[in-house]
Amino acid sequence: MPKITANPLMVGGTFDAAGGKPSTIIEEVARGVKHILGGVRLINGGGLDLLSALVAQAYNEEIVLWMPHVPNTLFGSNFLPTIKKVNPHCLLISSKANPAMKYKLPDIMQHALFNHSNLVVEFSIPPERGEGRVFARVLDPLANVYALDGEPGEMTTDYFSDCMGWVGKNIARRIQVLKLIRRTKSVRLPSMHGLTFGEDAHPTDFIEFAKKCAEKFDELIPKTAMTHRFVGNTSFRCTAGFPSFRDQGGNNFYISKRNVDKKDIKPSSFVPVQISGNENSNICYGGYNKPSVDSPIQRALYHYFPKINYMIHGHVYITNAPKTKWPVPCGSLQEINEILEVVDGMKVGYALLDSFVINLNGHGFIAGAEKVPELKGILNNMEARPAPELQN
Ligand SMILES: [Zn+2]
Repeated sequence: MPKITANPLMVGGTFDAAGGKPSTIIEEVARGVKHILGGVRLINGGGLDLLSALVAQAYNEEIVLWMPHVPNTLFGSNFLPTIKKVNPHCLLISSKANPAMKYKLPDIMQHALFNHSNLVVEFSIPPERGEGRVFARVLDPLANVYALDGEPGEMTTDYFSDCMGWVGKNIARRIQVLKLIRRTKSVRLPSMHGLTFGEDAHPTDFIEFAKKCAEKFDELIPKTAMTHRFVGNTSFRCTAGFPSFRDQGGNNFYISKRNVDKKDIKPSSFVPVQISGNENSNICYGGYNKPSVDSPIQRALYHYFPKINYMIHGHVYITNAPKTKWPVPCGSLQEINEILEVVDGMKVGYALLDSFVINLNGHGFIAGAEKVPELKGILNNMEARPAPELQN
């Protein structure tokens, strides 16, 4: 585990017109965070003016643990949704109070996706405990639950712990990993505007296959019944998957546009992306739709594996496929090396590799092939990821 130190801003406790109230639970969580990161600037409860000042401060922070309790009657919101809008590159750790367990896991995930939280701490009072004790667990938007450190205290079967210091340590351990995550920017190239794939790309079969995959993903990825509450009627992210194909003879591949609808995968859903460039260079694409977040990973794989012409990534597992070691977020560059390590284990030279199916730990799978029929086997071997999936 990397030894990263930090001194993040943490806001918790109650904020109201009467000057608020500190929370002993938040204090314990903060102690755990500090134990690992070496520091934490905790503001635990206060008046509404203070909270407004803290929001402004959060817009300039690198790491923000935003867990204030604000009575609904005052704001209807605790500013959480604005933090990533103003400060998109911060690491945001939010919380969701779920005392009566009214919200199911997909609802908590939806909350994390809507607020662009990198982690969410779910606080609950599991009914089987019956003593009103608060339990908590640390989740990411892909439903991984983190149990990385030491003694968890009393645990429930769903990995809720009653030891808040341990919860804080788990937040901090995951922050240390997330701080190392690298991504690339996407840049629209006017010279690629209006580019369409050549006739010899033959994507018709592949698009049919991608649609069938999307139907399977939709069956297997847990959905929230509460979309109206957090994000209007948009569907849970990524159920369409991330299909792409190589443009024969060209230096481009075509990948589905960002947030494509599963009912809507058609030739015009695909965005041209240049294969050239190293792993860290910008993703260059054509047209007015951004390519999917998985583009940097697939660009690198098209570069390394010249025989691979089709790829698909989705957030389910393929039964018995080899698996990467570490969970990394969707679209982060670390995943490229994780995948290459598994391919190295297959003992086929990159130049000769003509198909692969790899599970991505805590994330999903990626599969590639020279021809479409070689990919079709995965359709009968998809399985839902555990929800939550334990990472320890
Ligand atoms: Zn993904």
